[in-house]
Amino acid sequence: MYVYGCGVCQTISHHTSEGEATAERDGHRRTVHHGRVPMGEWIRDTTPPPPPPTPMSVVRWLLGTWPGRAVALVLVVVVVRLGLFINDLPPLFAPMPPAAPAPTWTNPFASEAPTASPPPR
Ligand SMILES: [Zn+2]
Repeated sequence: MYVYGCGVCQTISHHTSEGEATAERDGHRRTVHHGRVPMGEWIRDTTPPPPPPTPMSVVRWLLGTWPGRAVALVLVVVVVRLGLFINDLPPLFAPMPPAAPAPTWTNPFASEAPTASPPPR
């Protein structure tokens, strides 16, 4: 979308192409300003920028277009080739290490000296 604005008349008009906006500008100069260039006139492109790619749009491009399919094929080849060099990674489900020995408990309040026998009754 293109917008033409005249700074003298303070008017704007919307157009679907830059060529339409340029034609409007030229016509406006001829008919309203007698062929002179009004001060402060402008043409702006108000087309919103394309949205950033989403994961689904990238997948759609990879699978739906020929350049995308070529890129996907190259990615698959690279992944497969890299897979040949990562064989020495540890397995995901390695066997469990042997269990540690059960901890032993010692009474920290045990006295070294033998206790006296209880008095006779
Ligand atoms: Zn004008």
